[in-house]
Amino acid sequence: MKSKDEKKSFSAGALVMKQGEKGDCAYIIEEGLVEVSVQSPDGKVQVVGTRGPGTIIGEMAIVDNAPRAATVKALKDCKMLEITRDDFSQRLHTADPVIQMIAQVILTRYRDILTRSEILRDSSSWPPPEALERSYAAQTDVVESVKIANQFRAALENGELSLYYQPIIDLSKGHVVGFEALMRWIHPEQGFISPGVFIPIAEKSGLIVEASKWALAEACAALRRIEKKLKVKEPLYMSVNFSSHDFAQHDFVDNMLSTIRKADVDPHQIKLEITERLLIQQPDNAKETLQACRDAGIGIAIDDFGTGYSSLSYLYYFPIEILKIDQSFIRVMYKEERSLELVKSIIGLGKNMNLTVIAEGVEDREEARLLRDMGCDTAQGYYFAKPMPEDDVVGLLSRWDPVKIPA
Ligand code: C2E
Ligand code: CA
Ligand code: CA
Repeated sequence: MKSKDEKKSFSAGALVMKQGEKGDCAYIIEEGLVEVSVQSPDGKVQVVGTRGPGTIIGEMAIVDNAPRAATVKALKDCKMLEITRDDFSQRLHTADPVIQMIAQVILTRYRDILTRSEILRDSSSWPPPEALERSYAAQTDVVESVKIANQFRAALENGELSLYYQPIIDLSKGHVVGFEALMRWIHPEQGFISPGVFIPIAEKSGLIVEASKWALAEACAALRRIEKKLKVKEPLYMSVNFSSHDFAQHDFVDNMLSTIRKADVDPHQIKLEITERLLIQQPDNAKETLQACRDAGIGIAIDDFGTGYSSLSYLYYFPIEILKIDQSFIRVMYKEERSLELVKSIIGLGKNMNLTVIAEGVEDREEARLLRDMGCDTAQGYYFAKPMPEDDVVGLLSRWDPVKIPA
């Protein structure tokens, strides 16, 4: 990973940061001495103290977005290491999961303490009960997340995770063309835990990286088994979800290719599902990574398309093969003219750009018919099949009757 740390020099008398101004970095003082002062609302300036080598200043900027809480001036010539908020969060994302969780708990508490002291300073009274309540809830959330993250780690180690596969259907022929692999976690005590709950926690704790590696290997192996059992003529494909944390790994592409090779699967049968957000957040990294995947034959699908960003220029910039229309648009297509128009435009856009379009969350025949009539290539949703275990997929496909969608 490229570090964005930068050495900065400030000569004696120079202003390092000004109270009330926006800041996006902290500094670790390596040499020199600074003076920290605070101006009260009535304009009085009070020197809080001095800081020397080995201390950190402006650290709240890497915890939250609030303006600088104090003014810092160099008293002597100073050399400092600048740590930007982006660099810090990238480091945190790639750190050991335990360090990450501990850092997050400490940062949240630190912010709470400062918030409380600010409320005290402003109102010269005890914080209102709602403020205490909120900070307590935030802490409890963090504690709960740590608990789930630890249990998820154990689940990963103990083989408690599984994959369900949801068929993707060619709307004109009614055949199954592929699957989306979706992670499932059956907790020994709590039972089913929704991916909507555990995936964000796995992402925050960094455990998603291991989970994704496992999911890709498992999905490839399942694809081979399914094809063998069904003796399919046309190759099926498998679409696997990835997060921005996976992309931040320098060996992401190598891992991906070696896993696919080991499973003896043709890379053209693997699709990588990512969201628009990831592309916008890490454009350069993503471009390189996606191009390498694409060169190897792996297809790139944009998940939840239409919910992220308004700029479409990235569709030209990245080597994309598939657009997955978000289910929220499909759900209200009949009720809202605007959604229908949007779905129509996405299908048109896909056609113009030679991309395959998948409509997600198709729940009834009318939706399927409308989508087919609008020229949508493929669809996925409860109307055709819910996500299911591998054995059920084999059973379902062995008696599959091309889905009849009325003309
Ligand atoms: P997603 O990638 O958008 O996956 C589609 C979700 O829609 C799945 O929810 C699927 O079960 C659900 N779905 C499919 N058809 C229908 C339908 O007709 N109606 C309705 N209401 N829902 C339908 P699921 O399995 O709960 O997963 C939720 C999200 O969790 C996924 O959304 C994805 O963002 C994440 N996720 C799941 N598995 C993985 C994984 O292996 N890795 C990563 N990074 N994320 C995953
Ligand atoms: Ca997906
Ligand atoms: Ca989706």
